[in-house]
Amino acid sequence: MQITTVGVVGAGTMGNGIAQTFAVAGFPVRLRDVGEPPLERGVNNVRKSLAKFVEKGKLTQEASEAAIARISTTTELRDLADCDLVVEAIFENFDAKKAVFEELDLLLGPDAILASNTSSIDITRLGAVTKRADRVIGMHFFNPVPLMSLVEVIRGLSTSDETYATVRELAVQLGKTPVEVRDYPGFVSNRVLMPMINEAVFTLFEGVASKEDIDTVMKLGMNHPMGPLTLADFIGLDVCLDILNVLYDGFKDPKYRPCPLLVKMVQAGKLGRKSGEGFYKY
Ligand code: NAD
Repeated sequence: MQITTVGVVGAGTMGNGIAQTFAVAGFPVRLRDVGEPPLERGVNNVRKSLAKFVEKGKLTQEASEAAIARISTTTELRDLADCDLVVEAIFENFDAKKAVFEELDLLLGPDAILASNTSSIDITRLGAVTKRADRVIGMHFFNPVPLMSLVEVIRGLSTSDETYATVRELAVQLGKTPVEVRDYPGFVSNRVLMPMINEAVFTLFEGVASKEDIDTVMKLGMNHPMGPLTLADFIGLDVCLDILNVLYDGFKDPKYRPCPLLVKMVQAGKLGRKSGEGFYKY
């Protein structure tokens, strides 16, 4: 299926990066958020990010201006009615996403594809709130979207081969590397990453080594660009805990039980970089 116009719902951290990536690749983008302030912030972030690409010589000034001109903003979901693909990137909350999917299902043309950038919500469950479950799919980008090349393409139980092929091809057109993933808790990325972070927290909790030394082992011994505790602070300890709970509830397997220290830190409001303190102080 040919994708011409793309809608992005949510202009936050991920949404504005997704809008930028499609616009740079030549797609007209309709970016929707609930009010003007988040839309302005989103478009400003796109401008700043594009300016950095120009500064580094990775994009010409003309290409940057053309990309910005391809993004139009709106607070009305109905302005996305003629899009061939809509990528939803609103808060990680099932009921909020359900409302957007239900509304878009009524607005969009019969062939349009509905994608979600969710990190942990079942694509199958989102598909089931629409009458187009065969055209509902996960398009899981990574932060910062313009720089990170991976897209996990998540196939819900009812996602058709044609929808998958279209979205996979589209990810390649964006210059990304798609991987095919089945719809199970944590997909691949968080299912592998979060238990590693959790184990690093257990290692600290049990006094096996200091936080600095745990991070040093993984940086120098495994060649990871940052240690797991630094990474957890970067992601947000509340987000890590939420995802571990999704794994724990989804598989009913005690191997995903969140470390009590992680739970305590979230209870104390020590959420990592965003709150000024997590395993480290910022
Ligand atoms: P964010 O809080 O930065 O942005 C969410 C935006 O959605 C806000 O601007 C908010 O105003 C808007 N919004 C809320 N309800 C809306 C609605 N009904 N219609 C339109 N806009 C609405 O969140 P984020 O970090 O960009 O995360 C978005 C999604 O991407 C989540 O599902 C998250 O799990 C996923 N994700 C996040 C990351 C990350 O590192 N931040 C990485 C991969 C996936």
